[in-house]
Amino acid sequence: MQLSTREVQCPRCAERASVRVPDEDVELKIGRSVAAFGESTTVTCSNGHRYWVYFC
Ligand SMILES: [Zn+2]
Repeated sequence: MQLSTREVQCPRCAERASVRVPDEDVELKIGRSVAAFGESTTVTCSNGHRYWVYFC
């Protein structure tokens, strides 16, 4: 499996961050709380906001 990175935006301050995604074609969904389904990763932006990115 090849890892690639995608750019995401913080839902609170729009600060950009890059996350590793398992698949180039994956769709990213950003949430403010953890969900019990799917693969996700936690991102903390440079302003200290934590959010979750889900891979769909
Ligand atoms: Zn932020």
